[in-house]
Amino acid sequence: MMGSALDPGLVLDALSVIAWTALPDGRVDFVNRKWSEYTGHDLAASSGSQWQGAVSADDLPELVERRRAIFAAGEPGGIAARLRRFDGAQRWFDIQISPIRDASGEIVRWFFLCIDIEDRKRDEITLAESERHLNETINALPALIWSARPDGTGEFYNQYYLDYLGRTLSQVRDYEWTKAVHPDDLPGLLAAWSEIMASRMPGAAEARMQRYDGQYRWFLFRTSPLRDQDGNVVKWYGINIDIDDRKRAEEELRRSEAFLAEGQALARMGNFTWDADTDEIAWSEQIYHIFDFEPGTPVSLERIAERSHPEDMGFIAQFIEQGRRGESDIECQHRLLMPDQSVKHLHLIAHRATDRPDRNEYRGTTLDISQRRSSEEALDRARAELSHVARVMSLGALTASIAHEVNQPLAGIVTNASTCLRMLAAEPPNIEGAQETARRTIRDGNRAADVIARLRTLFTKRSATIEPVDLAHTARDIIALMQSDLDRARVVMRMEFAEGLPFAGCDRVQVQQVIMNLLRNAADAMSTVNDRPRRVTVKTEAGSNETVRLSVRDSGIGFDPQDAQRLFDAFYTTRRDGMGIGLAISRSIIESQNGRLWAELPADGPGAIFSFSLPVYGA
Ligand code: ADP
Repeated sequence: MMGSALDPGLVLDALSVIAWTALPDGRVDFVNRKWSEYTGHDLAASSGSQWQGAVSADDLPELVERRRAIFAAGEPGGIAARLRRFDGAQRWFDIQISPIRDASGEIVRWFFLCIDIEDRKRDEITLAESERHLNETINALPALIWSARPDGTGEFYNQYYLDYLGRTLSQVRDYEWTKAVHPDDLPGLLAAWSEIMASRMPGAAEARMQRYDGQYRWFLFRTSPLRDQDGNVVKWYGINIDIDDRKRAEEELRRSEAFLAEGQALARMGNFTWDADTDEIAWSEQIYHIFDFEPGTPVSLERIAERSHPEDMGFIAQFIEQGRRGESDIECQHRLLMPDQSVKHLHLIAHRATDRPDRNEYRGTTLDISQRRSSEEALDRARAELSHVARVMSLGALTASIAHEVNQPLAGIVTNASTCLRMLAAEPPNIEGAQETARRTIRDGNRAADVIARLRTLFTKRSATIEPVDLAHTARDIIALMQSDLDRARVVMRMEFAEGLPFAGCDRVQVQQVIMNLLRNAADAMSTVNDRPRRVTVKTEAGSNETVRLSVRDSGIGFDPQDAQRLFDAFYTTRRDGMGIGLAISRSIIESQNGRLWAELPADGPGAIFSFSLPVYGA
C-alpha cells in the first residue's frame, strides 16, 4: 500500500525542539508548535522579522551577524543565543542553521533548529565561577603555592608567591625561581628536588629564599605529584612555608640549652625534679655525669642510695623525709662513694614548685663541691701548718739571736779562763797576766749578762703602737678568721660583748695574737671533751681603774689551781705537742702595754677562764 505524501509541517510540529524556516532573504515563513508554545507567539506574530523579538537583546546583534555570514556562505552553521520564553524567562539555545536546496541545488529555504543548552551552559558557568573562586583562594592564601611540570620546570605560582619574593612571573618561571634561593642552599635543594622527582613520591626540603626586602628566610618546600590513571606524574604541586621564625627559635633554644649544659658542666652542677609523692625523678645530663650513671637511664631513690656513702644515708633520709612533708626549701650535703672507691662531696638544694600546688614536686640543684671541699681542707691544713711554723719560727729566731749575741762573750770567757789558768800554772806564775785575763773574763761575763738583759727588755718591752682598739670588733675578726678551725674542733662559740665599751689603748695586731692564742688554747683544752658541749664564751666588759677586759671561758679540762702561775712560764706545757711559750709571750705582750693577763677557774662548772685587761685609750 502506498502512503500519501507527508506534510513537512506536521513533522516539524511533532518535534520536541523549536524549529522554524525562513525564505532565502531571511523572512520567517514557518514556525513549529514548540516555538509557539515556548515564545507564546504564533506564525502571524513571528513572521517576517518579528521573530527577533523572541531573541535576547544582548545576543541579537551577534545572531543577526552570524546568520548573515551563514547565508552568504550558503553553508550550515550555528550560534548560541538566549530565547525569551512567554513568561519572560530566558534560556540558552544552540541554534543550528542549515540550507534546504531544490533539485537544482538552489537554496529555497533556511532551516533553524534550536536545542536547549541552558543546563549545560549553567554548569559551565558554575565551573568557571568555582575555578575563579579557587584561583582567588589560591592566590590569596598566605603561602607560597606553585606547580611544576613533570620535568621539574615551574609552571604556576600564586600571587602571594610573587608578592613575597617581589618578582614577576617571568622572573620565577621554569628554573628562574632558583635565583631567589640562597646560593649556599641551592645545590642541596636541587639535589633534593631531583631525588623527589626520581622517586615520584611526595617529598620535602629546606632552603633559604630571598624575600622582597632582600632578606633571606628559611622555607620548608613540600611537594606532591599528581598522577594519571597509569601512575605517570603529570604535575607537581608544591607549597613553600616560611619557617624562619621557628628555625630561629629552635636555634635560640638549642643555643641556650648548650649554654646551660656548658654552665652546668663548668659549675659541676646539675638540675633535677623530684615528685615526693610518686618518686618520679628527672635529671639533667650533668647529674648523670656526677653520679657516673649512663645518661638517660631511669633514676630511682634506690639507685641514688646505692651510690651514696653509707655514713651519709642519714642525711639523705632526712632530705627525703622533709620533701615528703612538703617543706618549701630543703638542703643537704652528702658524699658519694664511687665504684673506684673515690669520694665526691655533693650539696643538694631543692625548692618546692609553687606553680603546681596540687603536687609535691621539687626542683633542685646538685653541686659537686668535692673540689671546693678539698681546697678548703688544703687551705685549713696550710693555715694550721703556717701558724705552727710561726710559733716555731718565733722561738727559733729568738734562740738564734740569743745564741748569736751570747756566743761571743762566752767564747771570750772560755778563752780568757784557759789563758788565766795557763798563766797561773807557769813557773813562776804570771800573776799580773792572770789578773788581767780574770778582769777580761769578768768583762765578758758582764757583756753576756748585758746581752740577756737587753734581750729581755726587747722581749718584754717591745715598742708597740698604742691605738684605739674596739676589743669586741677585734675578737669578732679573729673568730671569723679561725671559724673553720673552730668548726672542725666542734667548738660552739658564744659572744657576750658589753654595749658602749670604751676603746682599749693598745697595739691591735699584738692583741689579736693574744686573743688567737687564748682561743686556740681553749679549743685544745676541750679536744678530749665528749660528754658536754665544747663551748667557748668570749666576753668583753669594763674593768676597774679605767680598764677594759676581755675573757675567754671554755668548758675544757681546766688546770690544777696550784699551777695558775706556772702556766705563764716559758716552756711550761702539759700538752704532748705543746711548746709552752704561747702564754708566756701573750703575758709579755699584754704587760708591755700596761695590761694584765691571768688565769682562773670558773666558780660554776668545768673549764678555765683566761682574761686580760688593758687601759682605756687615752686614760
Ligand atoms: P702550749 O699550748 O704550747 O702548751 P701555752 O703557753 O699556750 O703553751 O700553754 C701552757 C700550758 O697552759 C698548756 O700546756 C696547758 O697545760 C695550760 N693551759 C693553757 N690554756 C689552757 C686552758 N684554756 N685550759 C687548761 N689549761 C690550759
